[in-house]
Order: sequence, then structure tokens, then C-alpha cells
Amino acid sequence: MRIGQRAGATDTGRKRRRNEDSFVVRPPLFAVADGMGGAQAGEIASRLATEALGDSAPAGTAEERVVGLVQGANRRVYERSAEDAAVSGMGTTITLALVEDGLVTIGHVGDSRAYLVRDGSLEQLTQDHSLVAELMRSGKLSPEEAESHPQRSVITRALGTDPDVDVDVFTLEARPGDVFLLCSDGLTSMVGDDVILGAIEASRDDLDAAARTLIARANRGGGEDNITVVCFEIAEGEDAPAAEASPEETVRLPAVDAAAAEPDDEETLDELDRVPAVDTMVVPPEQAARFAARPDAPPDRLDAIGRRVLVTLAILALVLGALALLFWGLS
Ligand code: MN
Repeated sequence: MRIGQRAGATDTGRKRRRNEDSFVVRPPLFAVADGMGGAQAGEIASRLATEALGDSAPAGTAEERVVGLVQGANRRVYERSAEDAAVSGMGTTITLALVEDGLVTIGHVGDSRAYLVRDGSLEQLTQDHSLVAELMRSGKLSPEEAESHPQRSVITRALGTDPDVDVDVFTLEARPGDVFLLCSDGLTSMVGDDVILGAIEASRDDLDAAARTLIARANRGGGEDNITVVCFEIAEGEDAPAAEASPEETVRLPAVDAAAAEPDDEETLDELDRVPAVDTMVVPPEQAARFAARPDAPPDRLDAIGRRVLVTLAILALVLGALALLFWGLS
């Protein structure tokens, strides 16, 4: 088994001024973090937490390493919060998935969620650490009451509020065809399970499209919060050798031909417009290489990047030429 398609997208939504969510699509690691705190603190908290996931985990089983990563992220946010009054009290949720040897290990704190789509049904894998979820679990609140509860955004566990955090961790055996989805509550508070399942099933062969559809549906439902969706599929077969995704493949410049280097403003602008903004869609280099290798995938993004490089080179050449003329004239 191997990780097949993967996608990540985030959107500010229609009511918030800032996007305080962060996400990671760095196979074999995937994560969503939803920050909170005044001013820019929420953004800082979720960013610090997702950045900390890039640190090396202490040795151990997958579950020990996942807990270690979450604890490390917690300390990172907590320490910053303690030393910087401007962001004091900030926190963030984290829901992460580590894929290894056919197993998916989930670590979870807060009210972001992990789901599994398998055999045409959707299963919520994580339990929300929120006030309403706890009231529901103890039978004090019905699902209908929970939906409109005034304190439905209150979470009971977060990273960054204490030096240590209690982390939910568990492992599932993956199967080819599984789609795992991580998301912030900006999705799940706006759309139901049926919409999530429907979007994944309808765009099963294009998870980027599925993620975009889900964000659009959450916005259509009101878009009251930042919306983040990360998903990945488990596919048949083995991972291609690392050489396939060598940087050479992605940074190699297209052969320069004079006609192509001629900047055609209209087309260039159009192509550049179609490059997704960095904050709404992240395509890591190894994914770009995969896109290039898949004949059915539209090569728009790579074309646009290639074009951008060519335009930059053309401008550079013009500037150097002008400078050379200038110096020649002066002397
Ligand atoms: Mn949120």
C-alpha cells in the first residue's frame, strides 16, 4: 500500500477577517490546526504547531512518535504564549495523521476532526474535545440542541494552554481505496456528513476538486468560520523509489525557445491568474512531480510555473541589456 492522491485547501470563510487555520500535507504526515486567541494570536498558534510537526520525533512506536510530535507542538505554542504578552492565552487544535506500513496513526486534541471514507460510508474517527460534545456524550444534550448551542465553539482541550496536553492517539489498518479526511470545525459546523461523503464520492478521482467543493459548500452554508480540508487516499502498490520525485524533475527549466520566451502578456497574465494563491492551496514538490507523471492530470500549474520562470528570465535579460547599453553609453 502507498499514499495515492493527497490534497489540502483552506479558506477564510465569509465572516472572519483572518484565517487562523493551518494545515500540513507532507506525506507521510498530514495535519489540520485551528488556532484561537485575540488579534493575530490564533494564526500564530496554529502556525507554530504545524511548523513544530516538522521537527524530528523522538524514537518509538508510531503512536509514541505522534504523541511526541503533538507534545512538542504544545510546548512550542505554550512557551511562546508565556514569553510574549501580545499572544498570551493563545491556543490551537491539532488533528494529525501519520501513514506508515499500511497503518494510519491519528493524534488529536480539540474539535478539528478526522474522518474515514471506506466502502461508500463516512466514519468520524475522532471525538471532539468540546463542551457540547461532552454534554452530548453524557446524555445532557441532544444533537439538535448541540447544533444551536451558544457555547458550541468552546473547546475543552487545546495545545498551548498548559505545559502538558492529553493527546488522543489510535491506529487504524488502512485498506486500498480508503480516503482519510482531516478538517477544521469551519467545515463540520456548516455541512453535514452526507455532504462530506457526497463530495468525496463525486470527486473520488480528483481529491483537489473534492476539497474545493467542500470549502464551497461550507461557504454556501454560511461560511461562518475558517474552513480547512486535508485529504489523502490509500492506494494499491508500493511507493515509487524516491528518485522519481527528485528535485531535478521539478526544477528543470523547459528548453528555451525564442517564440516561447517572447512574453505574451495576455496569456501570461491569464495563466498566472490561474495559479492558486499560496494560502489556499499547497502543492508540495513531490506532488507536482506526481501530477506531471499522471497523463490525466491537467498540467496547468506546472505550465504556469514554467511560464513564470521564462518571463522572469526574459525580464532579467532585458534589464541586463539596458544596463549594458547604459554603461556603454556613459563610457
Ligand atoms: Mn474553527
